[in-house]
Amino acid sequence: MTNKTDPTGDVRLTGIAKTYGDFTAVHPLDLTVPQGSFFALLGASGCGKTTTLRMIAGLEEPSAGTVHLGDQDVTALPPYKRPVNTVFQSYALFPHLDIFENVAFGLRRRGLKSVRKQVEEMLDLVQLGEQARKKPHQLSGGQQQRVAVARALINHPKVLLLDEPLGALDLKLRRQMQLELKRIQTEVGITFIHVTHDQEEAMTMADTVAVMNAGRVEQLGSPTDLYENPGTTFVANFLGTSNFIEAEVDSKSGDDIVLKAGGGKLVLPEARCSAPASTGGKVLVGVRPEKISLTHADDAGEIPEGRNRITGRIADSSFIGVSTQYVVDSPVCPGFEVYAQNIDRDPRLVPGAEVVLHWNPAHTFGLDAAQSVF
Ligand code: ATP
Repeated sequence: MTNKTDPTGDVRLTGIAKTYGDFTAVHPLDLTVPQGSFFALLGASGCGKTTTLRMIAGLEEPSAGTVHLGDQDVTALPPYKRPVNTVFQSYALFPHLDIFENVAFGLRRRGLKSVRKQVEEMLDLVQLGEQARKKPHQLSGGQQQRVAVARALINHPKVLLLDEPLGALDLKLRRQMQLELKRIQTEVGITFIHVTHDQEEAMTMADTVAVMNAGRVEQLGSPTDLYENPGTTFVANFLGTSNFIEAEVDSKSGDDIVLKAGGGKLVLPEARCSAPASTGGKVLVGVRPEKISLTHADDAGEIPEGRNRITGRIADSSFIGVSTQYVVDSPVCPGFEVYAQNIDRDPRLVPGAEVVLHWNPAHTFGLDAAQSVF
């Protein structure tokens, strides 16, 4: 086990970049991954996350910048001399060796003779102690992936790099393995850097997520922070669904910004606004669909004071068991999405009904209105 607060094991990327001819896959990037954290590089296909991971592994030579592991500059070191190991989506197990020997491989290559205790401990860690004498093809995809993790951890790397390791698994197994990998990481306490395009996966597993877009880190933060306080429309949309209203700054009131939208007013906590908010300026106001309540217009008088509210008409509704998804057309935002839990469902809330959408101002975030809402 390693000390989670030891800064000497931090992974530090300084000005790291990768170009292929005229094409820049990764723009100069500064990033620190604290030792002992579960860190995710999240982004759509082609955004540069695998290239970044491969530069940490030493599998790709950076065009500029340095990679440090603690105090050690490893930029010029070949992969096998770095205290890191990589787990790939393809498992890459040796088909002719049994599970025990697959995991023992790294130890035997170092010339160690008595490997039993270490291999058994590692197999117990990934809960495959009973499968030691099976061959890889006799295991499920999830079990094979756990063998790959055990094999990568056996030499106690300082950092484990995971390149879409769950990409080949079906959804149910993927979810199980997300929790399993998180448990393993917590138990061994080493740094995991995980590449994925799946926002739910990154949010489930990681302490810190770097959202990448077109070769740059667009935002870095904890899953809740990124979800609650996205700094750009890209991040807001990549991590879930968001509604946007273009509003104009009217005034400041204590810690809040008061905005004009259509004929009404909206309140936005200043701390949740990443845009400059001078009077008369434009701000893109965002609110997540599940934060919004929907009240039939006839009952508007029952809505508590102090909530942000806009009016609209239900355009569409889809019952999906636990909740109903509504699309509401409002003068300030066509196609507003609302996810409402089906507790005390109001039977009047059907397409065509006039409604008031309302939410706690604390759940509002403000973005620079110059961005596109894609
Ligand atoms: P994916 O999830 O599809 O693997 P990614 O975010 O991991 O995507 P990278 O594999 O890092 O993306 O690739 C980033 C960009 O660099 C892509 O546009 C890719 O086509 C390009 N690229 C990667 N390797 C090379 C190479 N050897 N030569 C030229 N271009 C490359």
